[in-house]
Amino acid sequence: MKKFIRTIEDFVCDNCGHQVKGSGYTNHCPQCLFSKHVDNNPGDRQNSCHGLMAPVSIEQDHGQYVILHHCQKCGAEKKNKSQESDNFDLIVKIAQQV
Ligand SMILES: [Zn+2]
Ligand SMILES: [Zn+2]
Repeated sequence: MKKFIRTIEDFVCDNCGHQVKGSGYTNHCPQCLFSKHVDNNPGDRQNSCHGLMAPVSIEQDHGQYVILHHCQKCGAEKKNKSQESDNFDLIVKIAQQV
């Protein structure tokens, strides 16, 4: 039997080792902002790439920060809204890098 129960996942960040407390929406590490390439569509976990996705740039959308993630394995790019718990200093740093 397959389990169809949607669980809120805690995970350990592959990049910095930070223990991330899942909120059900978390798709990146709040410390280093790295993500993992696991979704085709947000939350579906259907992508088998599993590459590390680095935060490469920051965009602002209606006053909200959007992180552009670049997969280091397959080169895919995805946008993710930043969460309130994210490392804001790092967001500012990446935003200024461009
Ligand atoms: Zn991390
Ligand atoms: Zn990938």
